[in-house]
Amino acid sequence: MAATEKTPAIPVLILKEGTTRTRGREAQRTNIMVARAIAEAIKTTLGPKGMQKMLVDSFGDVVITSDGATLMKEIEVEHPIAKMLVEVAKAQDMEAGDGTTSAVILAGELLKNADELLDMNIHPTIIVEGYRKAAEKAIESIDKHSKEVKWNDKDTLKQVAVISMGTKSAYIAKEMLADIAAEAVLSVAEERDGKIRVDIDDIKVEKKEGKSIFDTRLVRGVVIDKEVVHPEMPKRIKNAKIALIEAPLEIEKLEFDSKLHITTPEQMKEFKEQERQLLKEMVDKIKSVGASVVFCQKGIDDVAQYFLKEAGILAVRRVKKSDMEKLAKATGGRIVSNIKDLTEEDLGHAELVEERKVGEDKMTFVEGCRNPKSVTILVRGGTKQIVDEAERTLHDALCVIRNVVEDGRIVAGGGAIEMEIARDVEEFANTLSGREQIVVKRFAEAIKAIPKILIENAGGDTVTLMAELVKRHSEGEETAGFDPFSGEIRDMMELKVIESARVKKQIVKSASEAAETILRIDDIIAAERLKTKEKGEKSGET
Ligand code: ADP
Ligand code: MG
Repeated sequence: MAATEKTPAIPVLILKEGTTRTRGREAQRTNIMVARAIAEAIKTTLGPKGMQKMLVDSFGDVVITSDGATLMKEIEVEHPIAKMLVEVAKAQDMEAGDGTTSAVILAGELLKNADELLDMNIHPTIIVEGYRKAAEKAIESIDKHSKEVKWNDKDTLKQVAVISMGTKSAYIAKEMLADIAAEAVLSVAEERDGKIRVDIDDIKVEKKEGKSIFDTRLVRGVVIDKEVVHPEMPKRIKNAKIALIEAPLEIEKLEFDSKLHITTPEQMKEFKEQERQLLKEMVDKIKSVGASVVFCQKGIDDVAQYFLKEAGILAVRRVKKSDMEKLAKATGGRIVSNIKDLTEEDLGHAELVEERKVGEDKMTFVEGCRNPKSVTILVRGGTKQIVDEAERTLHDALCVIRNVVEDGRIVAGGGAIEMEIARDVEEFANTLSGREQIVVKRFAEAIKAIPKILIENAGGDTVTLMAELVKRHSEGEETAGFDPFSGEIRDMMELKVIESARVKKQIVKSASEAAETILRIDDIIAAERLKTKEKGEKSGET
């Protein structure tokens, strides 16, 4: 400490050769331009009439999608600001399961307006402050205009999922998947501290190619993608007592003296016999605590398999760690790492453990678990693409349903809620003055981009239809929105275009935070790109 106090800090910034530096307004302009370019690129996918994008990666693999989250993940962007927006989309998808396109569009729109405000010589700090206040108002407004739903109102939950899935693709199975997703979420929902909570991780999604998407179903229990290890073991055990073992049912080489030399057939025999004895002891232990089923995370030696079979125990090996944890939660069992420590209390319980043929493979079903809150969605479909897409779609459906179950609020879609937000934020702006007022008004304008783009993407006349929307909302029609199918302004509640309030709030949060972060940057210091090295790597040279 003392030493540094004597030598005053010299503010020297030494930049490497080739480093470029962009400062002030120029830096802001560049960053805003990049963000807007991204928003422009994805805006045509918004809504049920949005277009699809075809992405071809460097390996020639093709993805066709209109899902914002998938798009943002798949496009390989270079610029750090673009990368940031990709992160925004990912966060939105993780948090809310929907609303990624809207979040990126809103961020782009907020930045476009900020660019104009900067041109008017309004300081970025004032813009950031104004946007922040406006975002708070917007969130209040969503609360104000949202409608309460009972957490177990399955039809409403299903409808929210149908609307959310409706914009991904002309998804044939959406009604059915929405139904399964709603059922699954309701099965795992539980009350904690007076609130309904849903842990999506309690719902296991297991994919298996074969049959059709319409054979996807909900299993009340855990499905393990593994078969019973030995063909002569029982394939069906009722009232199963389940041992969950983390350790291998094998003799690990290290357990023996490493200097062991086998020179004669007798020694070999003795060695084998010893090994056999150890394995038998393991199985005897399992038998003695009364287990009738074994799920082992590691391997099971042939000899151990034989003893288990002799004992009439159903055993499954190489079960994934995550599946072991699900089994523990579902059956009330405890995962044991050392077989010697296994006791009766460690055993889990299920009414039925059974191996069943699913498609080409055999899977093990654990049903009627002690904890009824464990379910598996077994996804079927003709091809890998179909099951993969179904899995993605299901994940989003589960998320949006969880949102509504947990927060109990929905809003009208089709741009209706955005029109109300804009009205409230505008009203708020009128209580302010000067530059702050201008900034908050621009935020309100940005929100209206959502209905406007919905209209645009359906080929509607934006000027006339936006004017009609404004008029009807000013006349108190809170749920008037744009119907892309008829091309008219209609009551979204009547059309059952309902969405999760939480998704909408998250859109406002993600977008304004992203805009804020970008606006706070006024200096870009970029190192020289390692072009030569990259080239070399790609062509396999050094
Ligand atoms: P995001 O990634 O933002 O969810 P989407 O492409 O899913 O983007 O589009 C969502 C928007 O489309 C929302 O504003 C929603 O209200 C609107 N929307 C979805 N389905 C309908 C519908 N049937 N009628 C009118 N608007 C709809
Ligand atoms: Mg969506």
